Amino acid sequence: MKRGAIFFACSLFLCGFLVQKDSFVQGRYKDVDDYMKARNRLIQAEQAMRFDAGITLTAEEKEANRRLMLLKQAEMERTREYFPPAHSFLKSKTRQLIDQSPILEIMKRMPKGGILHVHGFAMGDYHWLVKHATYLPNCYIYRGKEELPRQGTMRISPESPGDGWHLVSVLRIAADNVEEFDEELYRSITLGEEDLGQPDIWAEFRKCFARSINLIFSNGTWSGFCRKMLRDMIAENVQYVETRAEIGSQEIIEEIQRENPEFKVKYIFSSRRPFSRERIGEDLNQALNQRAANPDLMIGFDLTDEEDKEHTNLFFINELLEARQKAERRGITLPFYLHSGESNWTENENVLDAVLLDSKRIGHGIALFKHPLLMQIVKVRGIAIEVCPIANQVLGYVADLRNHPAILYINSGLPVVICPDGPGIWKCTFSYDFYAAFMAWGLDLKCLKQLAMNSLIYSAMDPEEKERALEFWQKKWAEFITWLRKYSI
Ligand SMILES: [Zn+2]
Repeated sequence: MKRGAIFFACSLFLCGFLVQKDSFVQGRYKDVDDYMKARNRLIQAEQAMRFDAGITLTAEEKEANRRLMLLKQAEMERTREYFPPAHSFLKSKTRQLIDQSPILEIMKRMPKGGILHVHGFAMGDYHWLVKHATYLPNCYIYRGKEELPRQGTMRISPESPGDGWHLVSVLRIAADNVEEFDEELYRSITLGEEDLGQPDIWAEFRKCFARSINLIFSNGTWSGFCRKMLRDMIAENVQYVETRAEIGSQEIIEEIQRENPEFKVKYIFSSRRPFSRERIGEDLNQALNQRAANPDLMIGFDLTDEEDKEHTNLFFINELLEARQKAERRGITLPFYLHSGESNWTENENVLDAVLLDSKRIGHGIALFKHPLLMQIVKVRGIAIEVCPIANQVLGYVADLRNHPAILYINSGLPVVICPDGPGIWKCTFSYDFYAAFMAWGLDLKCLKQLAMNSLIYSAMDPEEKERALEFWQKKWAEFITWLRKYSI
């Protein structure tokens, strides 16, 4: 859309809002009845601004929604003493309050469409990793004197990698309690309540990757780990995924598709903010080559890692603009899907550059709510915000999810999608994010439906793929509604 058109749309939006606002507030109300009528009009007008205003529920859906809202009420009662979204997920996970919730069961069952923001293997089942990879006879762990990056690191190796490395199998035999020994390994590659007291949660987060990455990518593990990860997604009614970096080989994906023909995977080339400008330039070239070779599979480019400590979008502006020009010359596109605004600092301007660079979607976008004009542009241009509620809480950006800025985006009609980011690291799955959003953000069935549909509408699928995916999703959704109407605890 042309710039003039955007300003026109924005001013229309503002004028409409002001005119409406004036008509709600009356100098004098005849009686309580009159006041309540004005109050209802105001509530309805607010609801009409919500992102799901275009959806009208069918009679069956309305009935299912009534049931769902009763269950939500019961969940509020059940969690009266300790409302999980108001506390760190790492604490809530230990208390197992969400795990036992009927709402979680419903969220697992709900056809959620696609996952548009997840970091490859961080979606995996780390219990599986302990139970399989660390039981291989040649699995070693570093217990030497060096601190990170080596302390606790595990790897599969034909022979001992050197001083300080021990066979896991030998340590396991020597352990008093095998279950506890395995649990300790699991704790070392995931985040838990014990990490909450650490001064830098990102540092703990990185340690998890450092300790497990060689295990995940070893020959004996990678395919089994990916197979389990993809099957787990499908079991939680996910039909499509766009990952940061590739997951699984084409063979594994095809194997999964033989069982689930509608399931699809695409990936975003993921480079890292700590890299130099030269390295980012090289990565962009590589991304352009991969995009040219396989545009259906490789859909764009992203920059990841801790925004507060690493380079900004603007730092790489020469390389990013140059890559766009190169793409144009080659007759291809290289869409950006930039992590931007995963920060509590007002000084963070990554969202601004993400919008200027025509990012297709924005990863996290926590900082977007500080930029009212950007919010309007995002709405008009249909730039989806990839909201990752539990990740934001675990990594310390939003302590109480009832205050997450996504509520503002949803209620202002911005395109929002819910995403899991790296749930394996915090010992959960995608459905937990839906539990948190549903319980903390005043959502109902209509909102859930919009969220699921958004995950397909704002995906990188081509129009034909989208139509087919939405058709499949509609069928699954209808089955879910029938199930939900009859659901009883
Ligand atoms: Zn991310």
